[in-house]
Amino acid sequence: FVLNVLAVRIAAVRQLAESWASRPVVVGAAIVHKGRLLAQRRSYPAPDAGRWELPGGRVEPGEDEPAAVVRECREELAVDVRPTGRIGTDVPLSNGMLLRIHAAELVDPTAVPRAVEHHEVRWVAAEELADLDWLDADRVLVHSLRELLADS
Ligand code: C5P
Repeated sequence: FVLNVLAVRIAAVRQLAESWASRPVVVGAAIVHKGRLLAQRRSYPAPDAGRWELPGGRVEPGEDEPAAVVRECREELAVDVRPTGRIGTDVPLSNGMLLRIHAAELVDPTAVPRAVEHHEVRWVAAEELADLDWLDADRVLVHSLRELLADS
């Protein structure tokens, strides 16, 4: 009986892990330049408008995550970035997707990111990170972002 209960539990955990692993991924870019992090203010949809997030978006079919980071930064900020590796933990989003952050740097350090689709972009210092009105998922990552800036 005990073994049976154990087997059922293990099956349930495995099922949960598999459903988690198959969630679509939204990549976010943690772009660091001169010790600051780039944040952008959303202009849509209404509940998120005015709140801050890392640039990013959904990984397209057939695309890997670093490629999605590069594409999204071109679309949203009109700059080329070089992804340098994942940071922080995966954060589940209310829409069933998973937010995953990649650190990145500007390919051309003199390039100036601009808000193509958003209200505003801003370079944020470590001590200002916690003060921004982040989207819920991005706020979970503030600690990891502070560590990233400390190491930069
Ligand atoms: O930007 P886009 O609309 O493609 O993002 C897809 C979803 O991921 C949205 O629900 C958005 O709120 C969420 N997202 C997030 N944090 C980010 C980027 C996107 O929560 N940094």
